Amino acid sequence: MLIKFINRVLSSIGQDLAIDLGTANSLVYVKGRGIVIQEPSVVAINQKTGKVLAIGQEAKKMVGRTPAHIVATRPLVKGVISDFEVTEQMLKYFIDRAIKRKFILQPGPRVIVGIPFGVTEVEKKAVRDAALSAGSREVYLIEEPMAAAIGARFAVQEPGGNFIVDIGGGTTEVAVISLGGVVYAKSLRIAGDKLNEDIINYAQEEYKLLIGERTAESVKIGIGSAYPLKERKEMPLRGRNMLTGLPEEISISDTDIRKAMERSVRQIVNEIKVTVEETPPELLADIMHRGIYLAGGGALLRELDTLITKETKIPTRIVEDPLTAMVRGAGLVLENLDELRDVLVETENLEPPR
Ligand code: ADP
Ligand code: MG
Repeated sequence: MLIKFINRVLSSIGQDLAIDLGTANSLVYVKGRGIVIQEPSVVAINQKTGKVLAIGQEAKKMVGRTPAHIVATRPLVKGVISDFEVTEQMLKYFIDRAIKRKFILQPGPRVIVGIPFGVTEVEKKAVRDAALSAGSREVYLIEEPMAAAIGARFAVQEPGGNFIVDIGGGTTEVAVISLGGVVYAKSLRIAGDKLNEDIINYAQEEYKLLIGERTAESVKIGIGSAYPLKERKEMPLRGRNMLTGLPEEISISDTDIRKAMERSVRQIVNEIKVTVEETPPELLADIMHRGIYLAGGGALLRELDTLITKETKIPTRIVEDPLTAMVRGAGLVLENLDELRDVLVETENLEPPR
């Protein structure tokens, strides 16, 4: 009784957050306020002192430009935590920036954190522990495709089938959702990062040009496409000629970039096709009618929706603001916890370790 009462008082003065801890980007939504943080999941560390130099946007600018003793790392790989301590520091930094403490003993926030579908118990525990030691009071987990579907305003608790594809940095998650649960899902370790690598490799093989990750990404975003465009697009590509060792600038077109990414894009499309084939017929009927929805930054690749529509014969659309869909969905769960509690992966409370 007393504990329940204390908990209620605490939650009325604490703050609630929804967090998308992505391989590429992290977002924080504060209950009642909306998204307050949207930054790259990058941390720059001085290896001589072990000190964190920068987190987020600042750290991303350092990627590929650091002296030997500074490393700009991404603590999440393929959607799961690969460096626990760095993840914890990054989370703490984002949480502290998101909440404005009104008084010193204010309890930490309750948070909902997204996890990829089908991660192991150990991986789930790592996410929860990182959030707890970053100062949260209670941690709830939500499967990312579920959160993205809620963010897209699907009626996930009803019996109709919803088909959502979340293309992030490290993974592409394909999920069929119905009655408040993930009916079927697949995860493919090919997504935005792989497309950047493809462009790096292509520039090396075709033009003997060495380029960095950031350059590859900006070319992908600038002129990349999954299906031929109506108008030709071109962009300068700067790097170092591998034969002369000197800087060089060439002009590259959308056709080049499409060719570079072709294999990976095909693998993503195949994953979607396989999922369509394995979807139970009743749900498939709903999906043919409602369509396939794309979320995550990778959804923004030009004409990817066109290609998927052609290949699956199912109308494909991009959810509104695909980069924020997951955190907006988790935010909606926070705002309507009573009705949507069932979509969370775990609901029992855990005391923060002290
Ligand atoms: P994660 O959830 O893994 O953090 P995001 O959903 O934030 O990933 O998506 C990040 C990925 O989306 C990156 O690989 C980025 O290059 C890619 N991306 C962002 N904008 C675009 C765009 N306009 N075209 C193609 N890819 C994009
Ligand atoms: Mg994501």
